Amino acid sequence: MLHRPLGATGLSVPILAFGASPLGGTFGPITQEQADRAVGRALELGIDLFDTSPYYGLGSSEIALGRALAGVPRDRYLLATKVGRYDIACFDFSAQRTIASCEESLLRLGTDHVDLLQVHDAEFADPQQVLHETLPALERLKRAGKCRAIGITGLPLATLRFLAEGGVALDTVLSYCHGCLHDTTLDGLLPLLRQHRLGVINASPLGMGLLSGAPPPDWHPAPLALREGCAAVAAWCAARNIDLGALALQFSLGLAVDTTLVGMSTAALVERNAALAGTSADPELVRAIRALLAPVQDLTWVSGRAANHSSTEETRCASST
Ligand code: NAD
Repeated sequence: MLHRPLGATGLSVPILAFGASPLGGTFGPITQEQADRAVGRALELGIDLFDTSPYYGLGSSEIALGRALAGVPRDRYLLATKVGRYDIACFDFSAQRTIASCEESLLRLGTDHVDLLQVHDAEFADPQQVLHETLPALERLKRAGKCRAIGITGLPLATLRFLAEGGVALDTVLSYCHGCLHDTTLDGLLPLLRQHRLGVINASPLGMGLLSGAPPPDWHPAPLALREGCAAVAAWCAARNIDLGALALQFSLGLAVDTTLVGMSTAALVERNAALAGTSADPELVRAIRALLAPVQDLTWVSGRAANHSSTEETRCASST
């Protein structure tokens, strides 16, 4: 598997990385045995960056990943996890919770450090708190050797832009659902991220399931028009025996990012996706599908404080998970 530098972090990351939210049951039930096989196969194929969060399966993704990696030499893989989001409407971006959350993640993952620690869904926080409390707490954890790099994640590109320009220590930015067949708006943010020498992680190349060829999960936040647009493309592909999931992944792998994070839960899927790294999407097919998607191109949804009109304070968790 080809590797690239992750911004200026000094980390070398595979161009195709393992999104471990499915290990928390996000896309359907999964056994530890399945997780073990998927993670083991990923390592064999050179997919050695795993991204998780305390939010995915309310800790169960981190636990499953930690178990699957038990016994593997720690220098054979990179771990990314997150702080700040603990449930669908449960956020706490305070320094105290950030530091406690890191310790809890290390325990669940069975390690003494992670390689990347990120503010999860920063759009749900007061941006000033992220800049002046959460990220400085992550920086302290980095100095203490609990993580090697620190980052932010989120949906609205405006939030990512604001924080990237905030003048505080930051190594990486994870954007999702904006670097895929139906939405390429991440392109507009790349020059700024490169200017700041930030590592760029493009997550959800299949639009969190919109382009998988199967119906997306019930929790999917996409507006009906986007769901219907993607469903129509899936039907068009199915009628022609075209593998939409493969094409969507190839398309994202062709973008100018450091790594692409795809959700996987089985060894078979890992093998299928690993085989696509280094291949190119058929340009004719991409053109045809993008033409079909044109009515919903770049359509997204509101995420964050603007969506729920509640402050971080109101949605803060009562206690640690
Ligand atoms: P995704 O776009 O990667 O889609 C995952 C779905 O597509 C799963 O159902 C999976 O089984 C299926 N799939 C994978 N490869 C396929 C293929 N070749 N053909 C058909 N179906 C295929 O969405 P995701 O899992 O949400 O995103 C990837 C990862 O990125 C997550 O697991 C998570 O680690 C990270 N992420 C982070 C954030 C954040 O930090 N805010 C947000 C979204 C995603």
